[in-house]
Amino acid sequence: MKITQVEAIHLRLPVVNERCDGSQDTLVVKVHTDAGIVGVGEVDSSPSVAKAIIDAPISHKISRGLTECVLGQDPFEIDRLIHRMYEGTIFFGRQGAVIQAMSGVEIALWDIVGKAVKRPVYQLLGGGFRKKFRAYASILFGDTPDETERIGRELVKQGYKAVKFGWGPMGLSEESDIAHVRAARKGLGPTAELMVDAGLCWDTATSIRRAKQFAEFNLAWLEEPLHPDNVDGYRRLCESTPPMRIAAGEEICDIKEMVAMMDAGIDVVQVDVTRVGGLMRSKRMGWDAADRHRLCVNHSYKTGINIAASLHFVAALPNTHYFEYCVEQGDLRKNLTKQAFPVIDGDISVPEEPGLGVDLNEAIVAKYRVG
Ligand SMILES: [Mg+2]
Repeated sequence: MKITQVEAIHLRLPVVNERCDGSQDTLVVKVHTDAGIVGVGEVDSSPSVAKAIIDAPISHKISRGLTECVLGQDPFEIDRLIHRMYEGTIFFGRQGAVIQAMSGVEIALWDIVGKAVKRPVYQLLGGGFRKKFRAYASILFGDTPDETERIGRELVKQGYKAVKFGWGPMGLSEESDIAHVRAARKGLGPTAELMVDAGLCWDTATSIRRAKQFAEFNLAWLEEPLHPDNVDGYRRLCESTPPMRIAAGEEICDIKEMVAMMDAGIDVVQVDVTRVGGLMRSKRMGWDAADRHRLCVNHSYKTGINIAASLHFVAALPNTHYFEYCVEQGDLRKNLTKQAFPVIDGDISVPEEPGLGVDLNEAIVAKYRVG
């Protein structure tokens, strides 16, 4: 089998604002083959930047677009093709958007292989550790503590047993930070699990102080209290014996950088399959976390493609039982894939169909396609 075409398709809602919900635009990748099998993948990046990285013509030997690196190649040889993409882009790559763009192509390769051999991707990854995960509802804090409390109450009513609030007003002031987390706990009641995503808002000393102040709200974890470059800050925070797990990793694309963050002491390693270069590199990070006896959890916004790929990823790990489930309700999030991935009694199930187990709703692709 040979790869005949790579399509990078930029989708964008008519209005995109600063909300960090991640589902207002996306880049879908379709990889076509001479066997008629088409694989789909997704990239979480700046879609127009990632599209340029995929489509770029050759500049010289180590400055190529990703399409050129994989065209005419056998889609089964995934490790070799990851290497070709990495080496073909080292002049402008090795990090960031190039690795994020690789994710879309790599995930589509797994989809092709799964469809060809009629097996779900998690089995190709050697997995099947779990088939169901606790879906934690992932949502932004309300603008006011009252709104945060109301959102929490509503999500528990919908059946979620764990909820993560993030970004928005965190970091405004000590009083406001504590009021929002108190309201979140009040809305959820005493039994549902509560996670807080600080959205990179504090310096090291403040993060150590907030972790202690949040002790009474019984957090399952405190996420990204610090900038991802502040690895020494994470080390100091983790050494301060915070009364909850510390989570980080979603900004990281590089394997060495993720290992450094683990070695700084974080408890929850957050890997986004559409940002770190795809499923094989995600699996490496997940097992690096397992070797260190840490939890590994997906980071997952975007669309049903990301949800499916993330489910196959976590099913291939022994060290996870949570699943990040964005509850934003944009059209791309809800309707790009025909599969809805419902949360039933707080749990989400891993697809059992061949490949990723997703079919695109082409009417939605046509409606939001840019260019
Ligand atoms: Mg986060």
